[in-house]
Amino acid sequence: MNITAARQVLDTIKEYDRIIIFRHFRPDGDAVGSTKGLRRILQLSFPEKEIVLQNCDFSDYLSFLGDEEELKDDAFYAEALGIVIDTATAERISNKKFSLCKKLIKIDHHIDVEAYGDINWVEEHRSSSCELVAAFYNAMKDELKIDAEAATYLYAGLVTDSGRFRFRSVSGETMRLAGMLLDQGVDTDHLYANLYMKEFEEFKFQGYVLNNIKITENGVAYIYIDRATMQEYGLSYEQASACVSYMDSIKNSLIWIAFIDSDKDEDIRVRLRSRFVTVNQLAEKYEGGGHACASGATVHSLQQLEELLSEADALLGEYKRSNEGWL
Ligand code: AMP
Repeated sequence: MNITAARQVLDTIKEYDRIIIFRHFRPDGDAVGSTKGLRRILQLSFPEKEIVLQNCDFSDYLSFLGDEEELKDDAFYAEALGIVIDTATAERISNKKFSLCKKLIKIDHHIDVEAYGDINWVEEHRSSSCELVAAFYNAMKDELKIDAEAATYLYAGLVTDSGRFRFRSVSGETMRLAGMLLDQGVDTDHLYANLYMKEFEEFKFQGYVLNNIKITENGVAYIYIDRATMQEYGLSYEQASACVSYMDSIKNSLIWIAFIDSDKDEDIRVRLRSRFVTVNQLAEKYEGGGHACASGATVHSLQQLEELLSEADALLGEYKRSNEGWL
């Protein structure tokens, strides 16, 4: 834990009366959990301060974690401290008004590609940004307060971003911090029910995906979901995008990729996942990035989709030839 950074962040928070917390667009459990978790910790610890979340897009899947806040006008941002959590690049911040803030702090666990904050605190080894916020609380607990609500937000992001504590980024420290959060009184029955429950249509869609997965020569599993299929199953874009997780755990398919027609324009969203093999450099070639084994990217045509796929296939072939012990 970078205690110097944690100290600098807390001292800066103390200097400001208004704090605005931001996250990345297309928010996942970690983006929602870490921002709501930090907001709650700061509200409990500094009741005299105004602490708000300001984001431009939302997740239906995570709406059980509570309401979102209305957007404020530009003047509101001018005297504020902005804190952006879980967002590798400024371009991915959901609310572009972050740039109006007087000072900006970046707190993240993604690969450190852009120091867009005035203060940048990145710990890439953390399983989630929620873990980093929990570590921040833990290190500074003489000056901060937590409760069951804050712990629930952080625990939600911690379990979702670590694949329910499965990924290699999970350490002893992750588990100790998870234990600290549970001790605050997280209702795990309620949390897991919300995380796992799906609409009946989503189960039928899952059946469609499992029946239509394709595998490249070297074993890359993939699926392309077009708009007609989304409409046929009555799915939102977010529900359709979840199909990437239906392809994990196929033997010999160490890389799996979901291509989803974008909700807004002609772009195709790419969600790359892997075990053992590193895929973020491949994602970076296609306007993306992320983690070694979980990245996102964008392609603009079916031809580009094929190009990405053949690069993924070559990457996996090379990996299999030069490594042993993979599954
Ligand atoms: P996704 O498949 O969209 O859930 O993305 C997987 C991981 O990669 C998440 O941690 C995202 O925040 C990250 N990611 C997705 N797209 C990008 C991008 N264009 N640049 C940097 N990181 C990304």
